[in-house]
Amino acid sequence: MSTDADGDADIDAERAGETDAAGGEPDTVLEAEDLQVSYGKVTALRGLDVTITEGEIVSLIGPNGAGKTTFCNTASGFLGYDGSVRYRGREVARVGQTELVEEGMVHCTEERDLFGYMDVEDNLELGGYLQDEAVIEDRKEFVYELFPRLDERREQNARSMSGGEQQMLAIGRALMGDPDLLILDEPTLGLAPVILQDIAEALDPIVDRGVTVLLTEQNVTFALEHADRIYLLENGEAVREGTPEELKGDDYIRESYLGG
Ligand code: ATP
Repeated sequence: MSTDADGDADIDAERAGETDAAGGEPDTVLEAEDLQVSYGKVTALRGLDVTITEGEIVSLIGPNGAGKTTFCNTASGFLGYDGSVRYRGREVARVGQTELVEEGMVHCTEERDLFGYMDVEDNLELGGYLQDEAVIEDRKEFVYELFPRLDERREQNARSMSGGEQQMLAIGRALMGDPDLLILDEPTLGLAPVILQDIAEALDPIVDRGVTVLLTEQNVTFALEHADRIYLLENGEAVREGTPEELKGDDYIRESYLGG
C-alpha cells in the first residue's frame, strides 16, 4: 500500500496554500491514483484514477457490480487497497475511519443506516454527535428547510417512513455531520420521480454551503443532469470521464446508457 510518510504535513501545506483565495486552482478534496481493491479473488477496482476538487459534484456512474460502492467504502476507510487514495492530501489508510469523519468526510451509504425506532429529530441529532449545540441547531434548520417532508415528520419513527423520506433523512443526517466531502452512494435507487426531484433540488443548496459531493449513480440521466463531472465505471475501470456535455455527445454512452 502506498502511503505518504508525512501525511499530516501535506494537509497543512495544502490548506495554507489557499489556492482558491489566491486565485489559483481549487483545492483537491479527494484523489485516487491507480486504486486497486479486491475481495479475495474478486477484483473490484483495477487501477482507478479519480480527482474531486472543492465545490464539485462528481458522479461515478456504472452498472451493477462496476465498483461504485467499493470506491465509496475505500475512500471512507472501510477497505484495504493498493495504490493511493488521499483525502485533503492525506492517505486514507493512515488517517482511519474515525478521523476521516472528524475531518469532514461523511458517507451516506446505500443502506441508509437509519435508527428505525427513533424519530426524525433523534436521527438527525445523532448525525450531529460530534458538533456543538449551535452547529446542531443551525444544521437542523438547514435540513428541515431543504426537506420540508422531514419537518412535517419530526416525531415520526424512521422505519414507518417511505423509502424516499428515509433517503431524505439519511442525507439530512449526513448533513448534520457538517461535511466537507459528502459521499452519496446511489441516493436515488428505487425512488419515484417526484422524490428524485426533491433530492435533485437539494444538491445546489448543499454545495452552496461549501460541501463537495461524490455521488454514485446507476441513474445515468440523473447524474448527467446534476453532476459537474462524471466517471463511467465498468468492471472496476473508468472507461469514460468528462463533463455531462462531453458524455452526452459520446456514442458509446448514448447507445449503452441512454437508449440510443
Ligand atoms: P451496485 O450498483 O450493484 O451496488 P457497484 O457498482 O456499487 O454495484 P460494488 O458493490 O462495488 O459495485 O461491487 C464491485 C464488485 O465487487 C462486484 O463484482 C461485487 O460482486 C464485488 N463485491 C462487492 N462487495 C463484495 C464483498 N463483500 N465480497 C466479495 N465481493 C464483493
